[in-house]
Amino acid sequence: MTVVDRFLKYVKFDTESSTETGVTPSTPGQMVLAKELEKELREMGLEDISLDDKGYIMATLPANTDKKVPAIGFVAHMDTSPDLTGNNVNPRIVKNYDGKDIPLNNEFTLSPGDFPEMLDYIGQDLIVTDGNTLLGADDKAGIAEILTAIQYLKDHPEIKHGKIRIGFTPDEEIGAGADYFDVEKFGCEWAYTMDGGPIGELEYENFNAAGVKINIQGRSVHPGYAKDKMVNALVVANKLISLLPANERPEHTAHYEGFFHLTNVSGTTDAATVGYIIRDHNRELFENRKKLMKETIDYINQLYPNSTVVEIKDQYYNMREKVEPVMHVVDLAFEAMTMAGVTPIVKPIRGGTDGARLSFMGLPCPNIFAGGHNFHGRYEFVPIQSMEKAVQVIVKIAELAANK
Ligand SMILES: [Zn+2]
Repeated sequence: MTVVDRFLKYVKFDTESSTETGVTPSTPGQMVLAKELEKELREMGLEDISLDDKGYIMATLPANTDKKVPAIGFVAHMDTSPDLTGNNVNPRIVKNYDGKDIPLNNEFTLSPGDFPEMLDYIGQDLIVTDGNTLLGADDKAGIAEILTAIQYLKDHPEIKHGKIRIGFTPDEEIGAGADYFDVEKFGCEWAYTMDGGPIGELEYENFNAAGVKINIQGRSVHPGYAKDKMVNALVVANKLISLLPANERPEHTAHYEGFFHLTNVSGTTDAATVGYIIRDHNRELFENRKKLMKETIDYINQLYPNSTVVEIKDQYYNMREKVEPVMHVVDLAFEAMTMAGVTPIVKPIRGGTDGARLSFMGLPCPNIFAGGHNFHGRYEFVPIQSMEKAVQVIVKIAELAANK
């Protein structure tokens, strides 16, 4: 099977994850795909194949050299984003793209006017949606690429490599993909998630992240008799929001700039809740942001005594801290891309990845492009040539790791 055959097959499985169910995998469709992948791994003749009851798949392509070579892994996720349905995905291949608008259906058009990156792919073949669903290149392109590369290595025993491990996870899109990942069982010195965007992406820096929950208790009094008595929780919330730096919001920041992002406000005169997420690549600035949040709440409590409590929870950290001491892991991927004729684009992720959490669990895990664009929506597309390059990059990494 080619990488395209595999991809077109996997996107037909509805594996949309859900934040609502509280179980792992969060939706039964993910287990259906997992079982199909397990079957394929057996047919490919891989070893140590396991599928656990949480939906985690692992398998081994054994080393074909006597040289002492580190075991390395490739990781991708099976679920798709809950942001748009992944049910009944009908992919279409636009061959030899001419740089014009691509009508997806009667209502929606994929246009280089909206997405100028499309023009980078003139003459290539794009896989697009029918406008009703997302595509699922995030991250079924990654799964297809890994398995195609593994098959290639099996078919070309003249390419010497060490032990290669494969890991497919559920529930990445709801931030739970690393929750039950057994790093010890995986048994690799390092790994790569094949979960990046456009061709060339190579990432080993992501945000430090915290979630903030603020509860405000007001004092509700009949408005006609409220003078010097009422404390309106909504007014307190508004005051609090106005005190945080207005230019340090997602819509005003880029690159290495962190932010405070207001995610929800709800309430009545009596009580209100406010939610934030705090993000920063730099750990010290991240800690300072959390401190500023606490100081702001202290100040609010001076203005409105005993009104407000805050809970700040760290969510994940920048993997750079764990990857920098083993920088050869990134250098190897960089070299593999160059050898495959791909220009590496190294940039910080303005978000998190499963690889970040895996890195802190003891498995350094940078992120490599899977090739897609416009993830999580109907405008998602993936150039076939980018997927083919990703396959080559995986093969080259396996080869280079055995030659170092
Ligand atoms: Zn993804």
